[in-house]
Amino acid sequence: MSTSEKRQGIAVSIALQTHVLRTCPVHHQIYLDEDADPAGAFALAIELIRKHGPYAQEFHNNAHTLTDLLSDLFAAAPLCCAQCQLPPASASLRNLGGLRERVLEVR
Ligand SMILES: [Zn+2]
Repeated sequence: MSTSEKRQGIAVSIALQTHVLRTCPVHHQIYLDEDADPAGAFALAIELIRKHGPYAQEFHNNAHTLTDLLSDLFAAAPLCCAQCQLPPASASLRNLGGLRERVLEVR
């Protein structure tokens, strides 16, 4: 496993632990929870680097590398599972309605 893959894995696990990223229970696709506060993930990232454990070693004690990676991860993550387009949060039903409208327009 390359360094960037390891770092990516650490960033993903932090995001999942803080529930900023969620996993679809059906398709195991990762998506961003819009209602979650990304600050929690950044705080955990900084805390892990400060503890000088394997995380600190992996990122050479540079919390910025990890927080930048988290930012990229959140920016790139879809807002719901790409395969079922139906996250468990009720707020997303709006989005589904919009999608249905767009499909009707195409017809
Ligand atoms: Zn799904």
